[in-house]
Amino acid sequence: MPLPDSVLDLIGHTPMLELKHLDSGVCRLFLKLENQNPAGSIKDRVALSMIEQAERQGSLAPGGTIIEATAGNTGLGLALVAAQKGYRLILVVPDKMSREKIFHLRALGAKVRLTRSDVGKGHPDYYQDYARRLAQETPGALYIDQFNNPANPLAHYQGTAPELWRQMERDIDAIVVGVGSGGTLGGLRRFFNEVSPKTEFILADPAGSILADVVEHGTLSEAGSWLVEGIGEDFVPPLSQVEQLNQAFRVTDGEAFAAARTLLHKEGILAGSSTGTLLTAALRYCRAQRTPKRVVTFACDSGNKYLSKMFNDDWLRQQGLLARPATGDLRDFIA
Ligand code: PMP
Repeated sequence: MPLPDSVLDLIGHTPMLELKHLDSGVCRLFLKLENQNPAGSIKDRVALSMIEQAERQGSLAPGGTIIEATAGNTGLGLALVAAQKGYRLILVVPDKMSREKIFHLRALGAKVRLTRSDVGKGHPDYYQDYARRLAQETPGALYIDQFNNPANPLAHYQGTAPELWRQMERDIDAIVVGVGSGGTLGGLRRFFNEVSPKTEFILADPAGSILADVVEHGTLSEAGSWLVEGIGEDFVPPLSQVEQLNQAFRVTDGEAFAAARTLLHKEGILAGSSTGTLLTAALRYCRAQRTPKRVVTFACDSGNKYLSKMFNDDWLRQQGLLARPATGDLRDFIA
């Protein structure tokens, strides 16, 4: 590859690692390292794709203002891309989000507007309603809206999917994904419907999210709560194509955190909590197979923003998820 022009050229093209130190039964399990994107997550791809689509469509003029409702990885990706391209970025962030995330966003130059976490859709202070209103009131501003923006799944259709298809030498039996906005699933499913419709898609869903029920029974249940960040929903994201999933696994917070810690100990990959959910589901799927399969899942984001949470024994103990001093062994956790 030629030398990059800027850090934006380092988004995507992430490596694939075969996990050889975990028990994946008769299957071979591969992890695509999206934690190696420059702002630390798979959402860097989406941030770049949505901003460049808006530039092409003329909805974002030079020096313009981008508005989004998120405190998560989309915000970090947007902040990186906006800083490089000279856009102003205002993020509307629910006030329960960790101070580290807010400091990180501000360090990247984003303006952060905090709003209430205790109100739902339709309330004027709900973070998405607030962001939409702010965009209407701010001259020339663009509400980038990852939940309804087709450039979100497009980033995975054009980038993530063909990359992993090549890396796996065009032979993949199953892909294990989580759903937040649904962009990853929507984009990958579209690509694999074209090149390899037999590739199965498996949902890794935090226990408490409604999506596993939708896959298994087609019904909407009442959402609970979970500590894993970035995946699981209390509604069906319009871009997600969940109806095309083959199977779903529900994963508790305890199982997810244990798996993420085991991944670090055994394979040396420092990944986030959603990766723990995906890995748990992928291992369960693998161990249930009777014939060898090639299975892919993702390290969605880097684990450094969870050092004070799931990698911290005191925090786990406060959550009631650690019985005794941790060695990173699955047996230490109350799953
Ligand atoms: N993992 C993490 C850590 C995330 O932040 C996200 C995005 N919310 C996802 C997984 C899921 O990605 P998507 O929005 O494409 O469904």
